[in-house]
Amino acid sequence: MARTMSQPTAADALLSDGGTVTIRPLDAGDHAAVLDLHANRMSPDNQRMRFFAMSRRAPELSADRLCAPARTDFLALGCFVAAGLGEEQLLGVVEYDVDSRRPMVAEIAVAVADDRHLLGVGTLLIEHLVHAALDRGVRIFEAEALSENHAMLQVFHDLGLRVERHLEGPEARFVVLLDENDESYLSSLDERGRGADVLSLVPLLHPRSIAVVGVSERPGSVGRTVLEKIRAGRFEGPVWAVNPHAETIDGLPCHPSVAALPGIPDLVVVAVPADRVPDVAVDCGQLGVRALVVLTSGLDRHQSQRLLETCRRHSMRLVGPNCLGIAQTDPAVRLDAQFGAVVAAPGSAGVAVQSGGVGIALMERLNALGIGISSFVSLGDKYDVSGNDLLQWWEHDRRTDLAILHLESFGSPRAFARTARRVTRTIPVLTVDAGRSAAGRRGAASHTAAAATPTVTRQALFAQAGITATAGIGELVETAALLHAQPLPGTTGKVAVISNAGGIGVLAADACAESGLILPELPAELAQRLLAVLPQGSSAANPVDTTAAVGPDALATAVGLLAESGAVDAVLLCLAPTALGTDPMRELRTGPARRTRPIALVRLDQQTPVDYLATHDGGKLPCYADPQSAARALAHATDRARWLAQPAAAVPRPEGIDREAAEAIVDCFLADHPEGGWLEPVVTAQLLGCYGVPLVPSVWATGEHDTLEAAGSLAPTGHEHRVVLKAYWPGQVHKSDVGAVRTGLHGRNAVRDAYRGFVRDFGERLAGIVVQPQAAPGTELFAGMVQDPVFGPLVLFGMGGTAVDLLDDRAARLAPLTTADIRTLLTSPHGAPLLFGYRGAPPVDLDALEDMLARLSALASDLPQLTDVDLNPVIASKDGISCVDARLRLEPRPTPDPYLRRLRRLPDTHQE
Ligand code: ADP
Ligand code: MG
Repeated sequence: MARTMSQPTAADALLSDGGTVTIRPLDAGDHAAVLDLHANRMSPDNQRMRFFAMSRRAPELSADRLCAPARTDFLALGCFVAAGLGEEQLLGVVEYDVDSRRPMVAEIAVAVADDRHLLGVGTLLIEHLVHAALDRGVRIFEAEALSENHAMLQVFHDLGLRVERHLEGPEARFVVLLDENDESYLSSLDERGRGADVLSLVPLLHPRSIAVVGVSERPGSVGRTVLEKIRAGRFEGPVWAVNPHAETIDGLPCHPSVAALPGIPDLVVVAVPADRVPDVAVDCGQLGVRALVVLTSGLDRHQSQRLLETCRRHSMRLVGPNCLGIAQTDPAVRLDAQFGAVVAAPGSAGVAVQSGGVGIALMERLNALGIGISSFVSLGDKYDVSGNDLLQWWEHDRRTDLAILHLESFGSPRAFARTARRVTRTIPVLTVDAGRSAAGRRGAASHTAAAATPTVTRQALFAQAGITATAGIGELVETAALLHAQPLPGTTGKVAVISNAGGIGVLAADACAESGLILPELPAELAQRLLAVLPQGSSAANPVDTTAAVGPDALATAVGLLAESGAVDAVLLCLAPTALGTDPMRELRTGPARRTRPIALVRLDQQTPVDYLATHDGGKLPCYADPQSAARALAHATDRARWLAQPAAAVPRPEGIDREAAEAIVDCFLADHPEGGWLEPVVTAQLLGCYGVPLVPSVWATGEHDTLEAAGSLAPTGHEHRVVLKAYWPGQVHKSDVGAVRTGLHGRNAVRDAYRGFVRDFGERLAGIVVQPQAAPGTELFAGMVQDPVFGPLVLFGMGGTAVDLLDDRAARLAPLTTADIRTLLTSPHGAPLLFGYRGAPPVDLDALEDMLARLSALASDLPQLTDVDLNPVIASKDGISCVDARLRLEPRPTPDPYLRRLRRLPDTHQE
């Protein structure tokens, strides 16, 4: 098969103990190491168990083969760990050898040093081998199965791959079926990745000892400030200061260098000038430090590269550079190593930010509310530790009940989406949707040295992962206040508004409606019970007006009745301060804070945007200064409830997909067009056909006779059916704009006239004619996919037809789509109500639309060379759907594997 045969590049990854290793193809320089591994570092038992085909050959032969020059049908990967000065040690090797008669099948073998079996070296190597093999079109691994080789069977089983055992005479063979989208493979990958990741973060977030390098004598400098804060925070372990020019600083003895420290710190905070950062990192690595927080900014590309390489080589996790620092409030640690003016108060919000300033603001507000911080990380330029790492940390630590992320860019959004999708099932994950505007995106790009992400893709990511995305920091904190202290509402979005001043009730009702919440009329029986406790003149419509005369008992009773009634999913209580002598909130304080439904308060006289009203049972009622804030918070909580009510992710795989045939078409096209390009109509129809995408029958014709024949076959004479003619030439864009589409043609004469018209208008350009039956009228929709360079394949859906750009009404989701993603994608465009039976029209065939989106998703996930699919329009009616115009584009590109376990590399676009 003619595939893009890029040699896999080196990748860094974590072993199950959290240490860092490098996985890379072997070459001639590795010969001695491979020989040593086979000859000296594997017991005979191990050799027999692990070697398969290699087992009977001498170690020299194995080393020769593994280290031979690169070939397209053979790959050997080694797993290396840094060992001393510039040295590396080989921990294990894997290889595959493609069967010359069956290009989709490869023989594999694995060998791991005796002392490294429990660290998951073999598993990690196989993961990378699977990735490389899929990239080359290999779909099946085979291995000899010696009878005692159950351990190997177990490895594949643990990988979540489907393994079959085949008997061939006396020999048994394992057959492993590879599929990078297989859910069981992906979730076992997650499982291992998570364990390794959390372990690797322990020295960073639970350090037993810490050193600050670059502590100047000058008070107010960054290093000095952090040192003072660490000490003021009464960090549990030893704290050391490094400064070659001072004896003591802040009463603490100074050490001239990292190497001169009296012990090995788990964590080192680096605040030296940019040109010294790489050397300090090397010193730390050589000493055995396990984590760095680099506060310094302004590293050039070379310095950045050296810093990151040093961290990888020495298994150090790195926060920053260009960051504010970190804080950990666990009483066993008590670390406040950040130079913001704020001190993180112990609490339950995990906070990770790219911008230090946003971090300070968030900590201040969370402290003020009493939610406090469990751990805080200012990620800065995110060379290594990213939002994804922190999500996994908070998922596992028992102190975090809210995860707050402020990210301006995404390094590997698909892996992040997968993690977030899982974490949001247990704790809310909140973020600010930063960089919505063009100006905001420019700002994000210039200050985080990473391209900011376009709106539609980012929103797709948030929606699919169940992340609560707010418009700003204020809204985020206001939403966090509700999620932290109150139960989740139900999924209906129904709210009761109750107020002691009618006008405020009306404001609150408007705010609810604007946030997508519903104020239902209250059931008669509930209204009667309310009126029985409320003062004369009250109204029990929704909003409920208690009049200003309401006393604390009546108010508390009414709120309780509403919250427990089952008629609404949340209660919004709005109070105007009166001078009537009784505090209307008194009884609320003595009542329970948590009921079956959430309660939010609005007090227009409140000074802060959000606050808590403490109740006697130790609970908290969130109080807002503005009804809009309260309504938005309730709407976000409702969205979260809806997300949780969705069934866990299942990716549908429609029937009748012929992936192999599709891949053959792709390979064949790319062999003819190495640069890639748009497909001509016939190939377009073939490729869509392999995935069962419902394209209207389209016949390709080149002359008048052909065209008439085709039209006749699609709509026989005398038949009432009509046909459509489309002129085709390579590179055309909007056919109807230039008169290249003639619809509603009836009879031979009309077809002939249309054909002759095309010849007259387009002359030489005309490459051929596409003849289609006229589709039944219906709603014109757009469906398609694009490959985003950062986000990978996205499926798009929206309103279509020739006005598509004008309407600009499209939503996107990351492929592969789950059943729930497909449903929400269908309802996301503003025009979606047209599909569900608008103004008495029957609903369109939704099953067919869902099926088509599932097919597009499969197409997008299976064929990485497919960069664009434009189906416009897809005409949908109650009887079915059909696509009448399709454009597909292919490009040669290596398979991106978003899920492979590997650590980040520096982005190429990094600023100098
Ligand atoms: P383009 O998008 O390049 O202008 P299309 O093939 O999408 O060309 O045709 C333009 C419009 O013509 C469509 O939006 C649709 O309204 C109508 N049309 C095209 N083909 C058919 C068909 N087979 N049946 C019914 N209507 C069609
Ligand atoms: Mg079109």
